[in-house]
Amino acid sequence: MFIDKAKIMIKAGNGGNGAVSFHREKYVNAGGPDGGDGGKGGDVIFVADDNLSTLMDFRYKRKFVAANGENGRSNRCTGKSAEDLIIRVPRGTLLRDAQTGRLCADISGNEPVVLARGGKGGAGNQHFATATRQIPRFAKPGGVGESFELEMELKLLADVGLVGFPNVGKSTLISVVSAAKPKIANYHFTTLTPVLGMVKVSEDKSFVMADIPGLIEGASEGIGLGHEFLRHVDRCRLIVHVVDVSGIEGRDPKEDFEAINRELKNFSEELAERPQIVAGNKADLATPEQIAEFRAYIESKGYDFFPISAASAQGVKELTWAVSQKLDTLPPVIQYEPDPVVEVKEDEQKFEITVENGIYYIDAPFLEQILATANMEDYESLQYFQRVLRFSGIIDKLEEMGIEEGQTVDIAGFQFDFVN
Ligand code: GDP
Ligand code: MG
Repeated sequence: MFIDKAKIMIKAGNGGNGAVSFHREKYVNAGGPDGGDGGKGGDVIFVADDNLSTLMDFRYKRKFVAANGENGRSNRCTGKSAEDLIIRVPRGTLLRDAQTGRLCADISGNEPVVLARGGKGGAGNQHFATATRQIPRFAKPGGVGESFELEMELKLLADVGLVGFPNVGKSTLISVVSAAKPKIANYHFTTLTPVLGMVKVSEDKSFVMADIPGLIEGASEGIGLGHEFLRHVDRCRLIVHVVDVSGIEGRDPKEDFEAINRELKNFSEELAERPQIVAGNKADLATPEQIAEFRAYIESKGYDFFPISAASAQGVKELTWAVSQKLDTLPPVIQYEPDPVVEVKEDEQKFEITVENGIYYIDAPFLEQILATANMEDYESLQYFQRVLRFSGIIDKLEEMGIEEGQTVDIAGFQFDFVN
């Protein structure tokens, strides 16, 4: 089954904590602080992989977590930074923040894109010695790695999209002009997965063609399979509209041609305006009169027309050559610019305060991290902690709530008296 949408969770690694440690050596009793810094957490990075053509894998594995940086150690040893987590996706995958809908990236180019940044390593206590504070018994915790839920959507990247009714010979055409091996069969809806093929026109000229599952009438209203796949033609620079000119299945090629164009238009006006070249396939089964009549009709509408027989590769060279010439005049494949990032800085230091029996309970995940590595017995540590409390606005908030000197403040079970 072809999967072109998926939702995953990504999380970058946390930075390692800085170490609290003091130099030890025989006969030296008061060594200086030598706690090393924590290593950086791994980033979550996306790259396009041309060997992939579906988001199927993301149906099964939905959580992607990069490793955390190592903690710092004594002797000024910096913790090892974690390796980045690289996620391979089909070229043309759009990544959106599931919560805000923001388009974060269009993985269409060759550059890897960092989606979630790993937390910085915390500074070890070696950095906190000053003239007046010679025994810093605290270090900084590592930063928390970014994490969010991502919506992935594959929007194929191809120069040319083949459209047409089922069974007109689209898959046959792509199989003769490229190395692509789609299923070909004499019944409708054989193509359930878009197939990409590289068409080599000459030594230095080539283009990518996409075989999109057959459109049927009503496709744009969600009838049948077509609708889901029209999105994949959306980025194509040129449409090759394949019509069965022989009418072998009892259909009228002109009506087919108009019906497909109506479907494109219903899906998007813009798509209907996309340049089109018309390929009249199964010419081997058509009479010269049938071909001439259809040609006159198509050309009167201003389109270029090529009679072909995909099955015997007749007229196919002329068609691909014309396609290549046309592509030279068209703008490159659409790549989407990411939406601007909206700063949600305060989110990092979110806290909530509730009062119960005169005790002020502070719920602040970021503080708990600091608490975990700080030494509260230590005056310096406490001072650092208090600076964080003030900086993050917690002290202001407590005062606003009417806290008085000597009242108890509780942070994740750690209690202290409020002094200002
Ligand atoms: P699609 O549904 O548009 O992808 O059509 P297919 O490529 O699967 O072809 C449908 C049927 O038409 C198959 O049986 C093909 O062998 C046949 N076919 C395709 N092109 C030609 C052609 O040029 N001439 C003839 N006679 N048959 C063709
Ligand atoms: Mg097909």
